[in-house]
Amino acid sequence: MARFVITGGAGFIGSHLCDRLLSEGNEVVAVDNLITGSVNNLNLAYKSKNFTFLETDVSKGLEMINGKVDYVMHFASPASPVDYLEFPIETMLVGSAGTHNTLELARQNKATFMLASTSEVYGDPSIHPQNEGYWGNVNPIGLRSCYDEAKRYSEAMTMAYHRVYSVDTRILRIFNTYGPRMRVKDGRAVCNFICQAEQGENITIYGDGSQTRSFCYVDDLVIGIIKLIYSGENMPVNLGNPTELSILDLAKLVLEKIETKSQIVQKPLPEDDPKVRQPDITRAKNILEWEPVVPLDEGLVKTIDYFSKILKGD
Ligand code: UDP
Repeated sequence: MARFVITGGAGFIGSHLCDRLLSEGNEVVAVDNLITGSVNNLNLAYKSKNFTFLETDVSKGLEMINGKVDYVMHFASPASPVDYLEFPIETMLVGSAGTHNTLELARQNKATFMLASTSEVYGDPSIHPQNEGYWGNVNPIGLRSCYDEAKRYSEAMTMAYHRVYSVDTRILRIFNTYGPRMRVKDGRAVCNFICQAEQGENITIYGDGSQTRSFCYVDDLVIGIIKLIYSGENMPVNLGNPTELSILDLAKLVLEKIETKSQIVQKPLPEDDPKVRQPDITRAKNILEWEPVVPLDEGLVKTIDYFSKILKGD
């Protein structure tokens, strides 16, 4: 049995990761300050005797973690543009001090470390699709910079610990992911469109909706994450679903699946909103023998089912 520390363990992706690792017979310590995470996401994890939850801010230190740790997975951070705009300083601190603290925990324990990085390191990309060799196009002082630059810093810090202390590190660049346990008020396109349609509110398209994204179902992502942590690969790996579509088409797809009186309306495009995004997953395919298998149609149905229950108060 290996012992994992997962920061952001009460978050959308972190909580699915806790469940998967527990089901594979591991011990899991989830750490979260709950500014965007929720203990409700841990209902399944709590059923395991191998699970512990610590409510604390990773940016302030991890001295409370006792005993041997085999793996440290740093998933704590606001990740929706709405959230990181509300908490820009917390976002920068969890990416900087939080990454330093989690890397120290890994160094002291000779543990394997994984950083949950993001496709946002590529900014508004000038190459398409984005591969790991691309250095990105990020506005360092724009509204999104608190997230993008925090993650770029955290990647640099991770590589520094790898080079200086030989910590066995992983850098995972996560592209748009969706699925159960996203919050109703998360603010990202998939949850907004589903919740708006479920509640008969207008579907808000920012700009003309021609910007593209590529959406990966959370179960696919988690399988890739587990393969990566056990892989021995120290260089960044993109994980995401390469099926690309425009945001307008995403809204239409949601409307096809939910009976509603909602209409599509336009709102202003946020500053520095990337025009395109699609992962090049050649490295993940070659190194991890991984690629997503859940089609968007199927993943959306599962996600709609989740939100409709939550909105009914089930
Ligand atoms: N978006 C939109 N309406 C919404 C929420 C998001 O049109 O209600 C757009 C947003 O401007 C972006 C895309 O959908 O172009 C994906 O946004 P999201 O917040 O899901 O994630 P991002 O990829 O920007 O991090």
